[in-house]
Amino acid sequence: MGGARSARLGVMLDMTGMARVREIDAVSRVARVEAGAVLKDVDDALRPHGLMIGHDPWTFGIATVGGAISTNGLGFLGGKYGSMGEQVLGIEAVMPDGSILETRAVQPKSAGIDVSRLFIGGEGEFGIVTAAELRVFPIPESRLRAGFTFSTFEQGFDAILAMYALGIRPALLDYGERPAAVEAATHDARESGPPTLYLGFDGLREEVAGLMRRAVTMCEQHQGARMDGADVEEFWSSRHTIAESFAANRATRRAISRADAEGRCFDYVHVSLPPSRVFECRGRALAIADEHDVRVLEAGIWVSPGLFSLAMACAAPTQSEAVERMSSTVDACLRAAHDLGGSMEYCHGVGVRLAHMMGEEHGAGLDVMRAIKRALDPAAVLNSGKLALDSDD
Ligand SMILES: Cc1cc2nc3c(=O)[nH]c(=O)nc-3n(C[C@H](O)[C@H](O)[C@H](O)COP(=O)(O)OP(=O)(O)OC[C@H]3O[C@@H](n4cnc5c(N)ncnc54)[C@H](O)[C@@H]3O)c2cc1C
Repeated sequence: MGGARSARLGVMLDMTGMARVREIDAVSRVARVEAGAVLKDVDDALRPHGLMIGHDPWTFGIATVGGAISTNGLGFLGGKYGSMGEQVLGIEAVMPDGSILETRAVQPKSAGIDVSRLFIGGEGEFGIVTAAELRVFPIPESRLRAGFTFSTFEQGFDAILAMYALGIRPALLDYGERPAAVEAATHDARESGPPTLYLGFDGLREEVAGLMRRAVTMCEQHQGARMDGADVEEFWSSRHTIAESFAANRATRRAISRADAEGRCFDYVHVSLPPSRVFECRGRALAIADEHDVRVLEAGIWVSPGLFSLAMACAAPTQSEAVERMSSTVDACLRAAHDLGGSMEYCHGVGVRLAHMMGEEHGAGLDVMRAIKRALDPAAVLNSGKLALDSDD
């Protein structure tokens, strides 16, 4: 996501030389891994021990442990295993003054605040993560998936809310609608389609069978039509494809940008809301896009019912007009989420893209973050310019 882009003149660290899995404690289900290790490589090392990593983002084959911790990433199975931050037990980091910090890799702890948390979503501002102890998980005895289509977004969303009200939390929950066919003038050639829900459960055979049975019944009670199993497996097996082509482009150093010289612009919104406010947020966001003449390519829920996303595209006579129109659309959607008690981002971090919204997101909390930053990194040597931490405006 451009995380490696320098906002100011600085030194870029290449962490690929720190990519070892130092230790796997199969009894405790903890892996001690270096920050430059790619998630998939950690998973491959765990599999012979009957274990797996719980973080499975689109970028599973590219993202590093350090990057996922520093953005508090979220993956396809987050409904069961949690965000990357929830899987961190302990951290080893180099602080801005060169000292080495190691936190104790057990949870829970009631011995003062847990300093590891400073690095979760910290985007490299407070120290460089060099290694982490991660909670890892048994490879599930059973894993079942199903898919449903609905006539309206409301029907599928109500089915999700009803499942959660009963305490059913699928490991995989991916619900999306493609409201309108998008003309070729925009970036995305995908077709419109009905609201589609993919569900998956991981665990013991009896548990997974029981949960899936109830989930299927509830989706059918909400007028969901069961999809063909092959289509569900196609969705699952292609979940990393977009990120793999992103990586292939990166490898050839092809410029990747959300806006192009022909005046087309793409962007997204990933907000975290109280589930009771999602429906209203969706309505407001669709209206905002419409007012700005921006097409909504996809709108949906990912991982849990409060996590709402939009992918959008627009076309304008010039690149700067397209960027301007898209930025004001995104900001208005984020403000709608704030207004409804939500947070402006749930997995990609802030970087420079959302830095201008940090004051609205955190209020006095931004001053607290800036005070910590100044205390730990007075010369602002770490990732200067990100997260709005070293400016007072
Ligand atoms: C197509 C696509 C799909 C994506 N899908 C997902 C998804 O499903 N879920 C998700 O959560 N994210 C997703 N992302 C975002 C991105 O993959 C994640 O944020 C990822 O975890 C970043 O890892 P990275 O190793 O590339 O980190 P980078 O992009 O290199 O860095 C991310 C941030 O972390 C900091 N950082 C990196 N390493 C360290 C370290 N060792 N110590 C301190 N700070 C550090 C960097 O300075 C930067 O601020 C997606 C991105 C793309 C392009």
